[in-house]
Amino acid sequence: MTRQAAAVVVAGGRGVRAGGQIPKQYRTVGGIPVIRSSLSLFAEHPEIGAVQPVIHGDDTELFAGATTGLRLQPSVPGGDTRQGSVRAGLEALAPLRPDIVLVHDAARPFASPALISRAVAAAAKTRAAVPGLAVTDTVKTTDVAGRVAATLDRTRLVTVQTPQAFDFALLYDAHRRAADAGRQDFTDDAALAEWAGIPVTVFEGETRNVKLTTEDDFARAEAEHLLRAADIRTGAGFDVHVFGEGDHVMLGGIRIPHTCGVIGHSDADVALHALTDAVLGALADGDIGQHFPPSDPQWRGASSDRFLAFACERVRARKGLIANLDVTIVCEAPRVGPHRDAMRARIAAIAGVAVDRVAVKATTSEQLGFTGRREGLVAMATATIRLPWVAP
Ligand code: MG
Repeated sequence: MTRQAAAVVVAGGRGVRAGGQIPKQYRTVGGIPVIRSSLSLFAEHPEIGAVQPVIHGDDTELFAGATTGLRLQPSVPGGDTRQGSVRAGLEALAPLRPDIVLVHDAARPFASPALISRAVAAAAKTRAAVPGLAVTDTVKTTDVAGRVAATLDRTRLVTVQTPQAFDFALLYDAHRRAADAGRQDFTDDAALAEWAGIPVTVFEGETRNVKLTTEDDFARAEAEHLLRAADIRTGAGFDVHVFGEGDHVMLGGIRIPHTCGVIGHSDADVALHALTDAVLGALADGDIGQHFPPSDPQWRGASSDRFLAFACERVRARKGLIANLDVTIVCEAPRVGPHRDAMRARIAAIAGVAVDRVAVKATTSEQLGFTGRREGLVAMATATIRLPWVAP
């Protein structure tokens, strides 16, 4: 019989040590909230059937914003301590009757799928297991005066991480016993299991599976993400629309009053269409017409910001970054200059990047050709993105 594994991901802490305006688990690394990365690890893992987030009661909105589209159990509020939060997660999972439960800290977003598989296998074998790393530094204890008191035998020392993995019923029972005994202070589930008399085994952890705690940890994680995003790609986009009846044009997401309008299936924003194709081109992921067919009535009159947002979301889904977006608009009129900064700000907001990564340029075609005859307008765009390097 296949054993069913579930995961509890605890994110109830306030994370004050990392500084910042919001709890650390909602801060981003590489543009992705830490909690989203941690939850995705389990939600996308084939051996995990249910993922139970435990969050702080004040974070409901932050949580909803960070986790859209993930396959999760409804979040539950945590307790006053980590131990209380884990117990709340176990209680929420209990009706599903999982065989195995993995308990993970939301502040560890870099665990690999292989580590999760090892955790499931270890719990199936020994009923209680934790990932550990050998200690390479020599470890000493000190007295109150700061003098060395003893040198420990490092061959017997391990540093312990999460996910910690247990037989579900065994851990749930141990948590209930600890709470009944008035214990609230266990900082990890292995310590609670040890208190309950359960033998805990150690399986191999991962050096990359760090816990983001301090401002330094975030800076290092951001730098490493950038190093990994070494697959730099550029895409090009081009679009034309014909002038027609109307009193305004949509250009770069901005409504500009004009002596005529623009004909198109959507709102006919050439700048956003060209940028969308540039981003899709950099991803080698089709074009705007393939993802939003003009034959589909749902895109009639559609605001084009959704096309660009969709393309940029596909970059983030591949753990990529948008390095820059650059668009050139060719027309005799309307004048683009007065709206340039508004367009840059709007494009940056749609794409989820800083405004200094967005360029909007304009030129005429010296009254030559169809743009010169004011029959239509043109946009050309490039996008540069960075994807994680994967060896070919
Ligand atoms: Mg178009």
